[in-house]
Amino acid sequence: MRWLDPGATAPWAAFSIEGVEAALEETPRREIRVRVAADAEVEALWPRLGRIGRIAVVFAGFRDGRGFSLGQMLRERGFAGELVASGELIPDHAPMLARCGFDAVDPPLGASQQDWTRALESFSAAYQPAADGAVTVWAQREAARKTAEAQKLAAELNAKYRDASAKEIVRAAVARFPGRIAVLSSFGTEAAVGLHIVAGVDRDTPVLFLDTDRHFVPTLEYRDRLTQHLGLSDLRVLEPKNAAEADPRGDLWRTDPDACCSLRKVAPLAEVAPQFDALITGRKRFHGGSRLRLPVFEAVGAQIRVNPLANWSAEAIEAHFEAYDLPRHPLTQGGYRSVGCWPCTQPSSDEENIRAGRWKGLEKSECGIHMPSRWAAEQARRAS
Ligand code: SF4
Repeated sequence: MRWLDPGATAPWAAFSIEGVEAALEETPRREIRVRVAADAEVEALWPRLGRIGRIAVVFAGFRDGRGFSLGQMLRERGFAGELVASGELIPDHAPMLARCGFDAVDPPLGASQQDWTRALESFSAAYQPAADGAVTVWAQREAARKTAEAQKLAAELNAKYRDASAKEIVRAAVARFPGRIAVLSSFGTEAAVGLHIVAGVDRDTPVLFLDTDRHFVPTLEYRDRLTQHLGLSDLRVLEPKNAAEADPRGDLWRTDPDACCSLRKVAPLAEVAPQFDALITGRKRFHGGSRLRLPVFEAVGAQIRVNPLANWSAEAIEAHFEAYDLPRHPLTQGGYRSVGCWPCTQPSSDEENIRAGRWKGLEKSECGIHMPSRWAAEQARRAS
């Protein structure tokens, strides 16, 4: 949190709609500084928030919590300018000010910056939801409890079905989680096999497709063709929210691929995750990397992932394509042995690992939707 010179907000315009309107007439957008009391009636500000650069909220007394509420409300309403806390403040306020979205403090005369810095660093646990989206302690405990339950269930199901056929595994999973199970598919080069098996058990099983807005056009065409071919009746296309704001230049895949995958894959899936207790995936051990020890049933956070093809080989996949004359992904012919988003996918040779063309040249090998730590964190954040 930025530390202003003591009394820095004193000359700022006190809040009045007329004053704000007059200032907006004269001053370039986002240079307006408004000073509002913590108990001010601020509804009239909402339509103007995008044009105000800085707001100082004046706390009337150190036991008066209304300034925190106002700060959080301003952030929730979309105020993106600088939010300054001013007035009767003490260092103990620092962590809560930060959590409620304040960027800076206009300290009372005589305040010690050292005391404020120490206070800001002294709390690591969050007990109340706030504008910073930090996961509360309660949500962390609940997420840990649900994860432990899912791990126990996954172990039981593994013991029972680890050597069963893919169809038996899918059938058992659909029966175990009626109405609460879906298939997750990227409609990649091997997707037809898993989807064919699911369609053979229950064609109405929801199929979730994460539309990152970065897929190859042939993937989208293949998705529709394969869905129709297999008679799958419930394709659900999940799109990222706020992608234009979070990735305004559209190049997050280049500057921060983990953030890009979080935005375009992890978050959209987490959004619908509460609707499902289990997801069927098409991952296999022969894909290598973190998939080498892939179990048939696994707990990813509080959710069960069902991997009926975990122990299938590349040859078994090929044989299934042949046996059922399944349509191929059009890019297979171009040397794409595994297909994801176009910026992060390249062809690979037969000598390489099948996923060698994904995020080539980077340490990254997974997008995060199957990673327990990232998934659990996202779930807990949403439950907060
Ligand atoms: Fe973004 Fe690449 Fe991840 Fe797709 S695979 S979401 S483009 S980083």
